[in-house]
Amino acid sequence: MTSATVLASGIRGYDSGMDKSSSRRQLARAFGPRFRLVLFFLLTWLGVAVLLVFLLNEGRREAERKAQSDALAVSTLLESGLAAILGRVQGDLDYLAATLPGDAFNPVSVGRYREALSNELTLHVGRFSDVLGFRVIDASGDFLYASNPALQAAGPDDRAYLPALAATRGGVPYFSEVALDKTSGRPLQAIAVAVRDARGNLLGGVVALLNLDDLARTFDPLALGANGVISVRRVEDARLILRRPAGPDTIDQAPVDAVLQAQLAQGGRQGLAGWRVAGDGVERIYAFRRLERYPLYVTTGLATSDYLAEWRQTSAVAGVSALLLFLSLSLVLVRLVRAEKEEGAISARLAESEARYRMLAENSHDVIWTLDIATRRYTYVSPSIAGMCGYSPEEVIGHMLDSRLTPESAERLGRDIDQRLRRIAAGDKAAGVVLSELDQVCKNGDVISTEVASSYLLDAEGVAHTILGITRNVSERKEVELALRETNRQLHARIEEIGRLQVALQELAVRDSLTGLYNRRYMDETLEREVSRARREGNPLSLVMLDIDYFKRVNDTHGHQVGDEALRMLAGILLADIRAEDVACRYGGEEFLILLPNMPLDTAIMRAQAWRGAVEGMSVSMGDFNIAFTISLGVAAYPEHGKAPDDLTRCADQALYRAKHEGRNRVSVYSA
Ligand code: GH3
Ligand code: MG
Ligand code: MG
Repeated sequence: MTSATVLASGIRGYDSGMDKSSSRRQLARAFGPRFRLVLFFLLTWLGVAVLLVFLLNEGRREAERKAQSDALAVSTLLESGLAAILGRVQGDLDYLAATLPGDAFNPVSVGRYREALSNELTLHVGRFSDVLGFRVIDASGDFLYASNPALQAAGPDDRAYLPALAATRGGVPYFSEVALDKTSGRPLQAIAVAVRDARGNLLGGVVALLNLDDLARTFDPLALGANGVISVRRVEDARLILRRPAGPDTIDQAPVDAVLQAQLAQGGRQGLAGWRVAGDGVERIYAFRRLERYPLYVTTGLATSDYLAEWRQTSAVAGVSALLLFLSLSLVLVRLVRAEKEEGAISARLAESEARYRMLAENSHDVIWTLDIATRRYTYVSPSIAGMCGYSPEEVIGHMLDSRLTPESAERLGRDIDQRLRRIAAGDKAAGVVLSELDQVCKNGDVISTEVASSYLLDAEGVAHTILGITRNVSERKEVELALRETNRQLHARIEEIGRLQVALQELAVRDSLTGLYNRRYMDETLEREVSRARREGNPLSLVMLDIDYFKRVNDTHGHQVGDEALRMLAGILLADIRAEDVACRYGGEEFLILLPNMPLDTAIMRAQAWRGAVEGMSVSMGDFNIAFTISLGVAAYPEHGKAPDDLTRCADQALYRAKHEGRNRVSVYSA
């Protein structure tokens, strides 16, 4: 962001929030955007976590409820299946007990009945898949008949349980201990029904030998899961009769804890036993159901690991998803916090520079303003406008750009803005900064000259939206400039004048006023210089001194003024016929000295002759008389006659003296 943009935004946001109390600021800082952001994410995450935990818990409870009802259902199936099998076995036992002739228990008749009864017993065996065989015992528990001779002594010892059998009443059969078959190792149980005579005396019993392995196998189709178990136990002491899958060394054992027993003891027919860890170390939920007609109950144990498998899978997926969600949320949060932090730092810097620029804008002697380009209206004007133009900021803000300008400036500015917008749109970056001079109309009607520095502020797309300007009143400066320029001009004129006067003064200092020729002082300086140069360069130099002959007479005859005129005429002749480098001077009253640099003696003699001739031939009529005179000339030359200026002058003078002496109107050369 450029400083100009900061200034513009700072100016616009000037009135907002300047009067917040410090406690509110502190509160705002404490519960600032970062805090709210973190809170939002924490709450979101907490909400998701709570929802997840709730749903998973519900899922678990649902799975448990289902497992409980499944366990109960399986127990019911098991109970009814077992009851049906036992019912059929008991039916056959009851039938045999009722139909066996009483005589068959008489030891003397046994041989007679053996074949027929063995056959009948064999017929009954064929009706069952899980009954190994039937046998008939006498009142002391000894063997009488069997469906198969091999069954004579198989399974439990009949004599051992005879008293218990004798005690059975009400058609309830006796269920023996489980005995492992000596040859096959199969678990066998005897179900025995007592046979009595008409008076109720015990004659013996009919025994069915149940193969518990086969019996258990009939319940295999029940869905128990990989680690489920079913078992059949005795009601009175909970000893195990059958378990699927078979548990090692558990037959005829009571369970370690007797939770189910307690429920059975209280008369419960079915129930649940919560979670127990069985002897195999597997945690299960157990349901039991008691057989109605037999002193047995069945239990079904569904392993937690089985019925929660699906739930655990779902939980794992949900957990991983939640973790990913948490990670991504955290990542977003970190990014946002960092971005917010940076934004905070930028805002702080922005606020600081805003304050700085605001102070500058408010305290500047210049007028600072912003203009909305779309509407061409002022959006901000600093208070110093009052001092510059007499308007208050409110009288300008919202007004059109050209409302406070002279028509010429307004039109020029409008054209300039259009042109610059086109250049900016074409990508010309330099077009965005302008320095211009505009004439503004003050509130009292005065027109002031202003200098305006303006910057075009662009949005992110590079489109100019605002002009930020600084206007300075330069009227006074312009007046001062104008005055200064006039003073300067006058000064120049004066300096020129002085220069001219100086030149004139210099001229006056070296010129003779009557003739305009150089004066003697100038000749002395020049002669000195020229002799030095002639010496340095090895050039010749000549001097001619001349004097008007009998000039006294001219004065005496025609007057002093005519004498002066004659002097001027002579000067004119000399000036007309000398080179630029020659110097002619009035050396005394009517005595002249002519310096001829770079001229040898013979040429100088010729020049002197020429002047003598010219003067001799000159006759000027003045009024009603003519003026005519002659001159005598003395010539001396460097280096022949002298090497110092004084020597040369003296030589020329002496030559002149000789010319006078020899009769005047002649040229004489110095000779020693
Ligand atoms: P000579 O041939 O020997 O030079 O004779 P002369 O009369 O010229 O003698 P001299 O040179 O001694 O005389 C100088 C005279 O020149 C004296 C003076 O009256 C006159 N004279 C000098 N200066 C001026 C002047 O500025 N104006 C006028 N009108 N006369 C001057
Ligand atoms: Mg003289
Ligand atoms: Mg003279």
